[in-house]
Amino acid sequence: MRDFIYEQHAARIVFAVGSIDRLADEVAKLGAKRAMVLSTPGQRRLADEAAKRLGVATAGIYAEAVMHVPVETARAARETARRLAADCTVAIGGGSTIGLAKAIAADTGLPIIAIPTTYSGSEMTPIYGLTEAGAKRTARDRKVQPRTVIYDPALTLALPPKISGPSGMNALAHCVEALYAPDGNPITAMMAGAGIAALARSLPEVVRAPDNIEARSEALYGAWLAGAALANVSMGIHHKLCHTLGGSFNLPHAEVHTVILPHATAYNSNAAPEAMRVIAQQLGAGDAAQGLFDLAERIGAPLALKDIGMPEDGLDRAAKLATESPYQNPRPVEYEAVRRLIDNAYHGRRPG
Ligand code: NAD
Repeated sequence: MRDFIYEQHAARIVFAVGSIDRLADEVAKLGAKRAMVLSTPGQRRLADEAAKRLGVATAGIYAEAVMHVPVETARAARETARRLAADCTVAIGGGSTIGLAKAIAADTGLPIIAIPTTYSGSEMTPIYGLTEAGAKRTARDRKVQPRTVIYDPALTLALPPKISGPSGMNALAHCVEALYAPDGNPITAMMAGAGIAALARSLPEVVRAPDNIEARSEALYGAWLAGAALANVSMGIHHKLCHTLGGSFNLPHAEVHTVILPHATAYNSNAAPEAMRVIAQQLGAGDAAQGLFDLAERIGAPLALKDIGMPEDGLDRAAKLATESPYQNPRPVEYEAVRRLIDNAYHGRRPG
């Protein structure tokens, strides 16, 4: 047993099919009376449903959330919250919507009730990002961590397979990096291991039969564990690469995670043998990186950066950016090796 520090931050988790019906009670429990409901334009109908359940406790709806939280969107949402005299936000949707609620909270301290409808795990973390002039910066602040999270697997039934698969791989990435994080601890390791097992079991079924509520529940449970693990550890080369590629080349977030994860895992395989053993075991695979690649392939998720919009002439720049100010990582982050990793990921080769 190694020495460790574990901080437990209070968040109320409500996990049940149909739990969106408890939204008004949960807002009242926070002592709030004027909730601003947030969503993307595509999930406006869901925002309307939430507002209907809140009744007089709805201050208004702001359905303008977009990927990567542009500062202009955050500013406009904050101004709307002030104009509406909102005393909390209800973020219903994926990481983009929850990210917008966090951007509002970072400035105003407005408490968040998150109702995640993807597997991004963002609802459990104090991490938030903002994009300005094409550059994404991320920060940690306990103030932005949602106070209540309502997990309702029924809300994920509409998530199409091509979003569900990569989103689940995004959650798996949190688990993988939690297992070799320098500030990991027995609790985060336990959550990460159980998260991998739940996601590996459920994702193939979620993609095969999107309306299977048991599989949806298990995937959402895995996403909860993944976000809870990530909340307490620092990120390594995998997240650094994804932030660099996503932010600098405007690639879709969950898909970048999907493509990079097997390669980042292979990169660290000799430097983090115990993490690799757990990952492989929980995946039911002989090898961690190969098992992740096989899972991505099995669920029909993208395997190559060239298929998700990465320009080939950007590979050198990506490697340079990812190695300039690296996050802590079990294996030293070196340009030549990272350039090879990115090349393999670009072409969709099986990790070496
Ligand atoms: P997203 O929130 O952008 O959602 C993707 C698309 O799916 C959107 O068009 C959305 O409207 C739609 N959608 C969501 N749920 C749906 C459902 N149930 N049915 C039908 N359509 C649905 O994607 P995401 O991958 O969840 O989030 C990505 C963002 O989250 C990125 O900006 C990323 O940086 C951030 N993120 C943050 C953290 C963190 O800890 N801070 C963790 C993971 C991701």
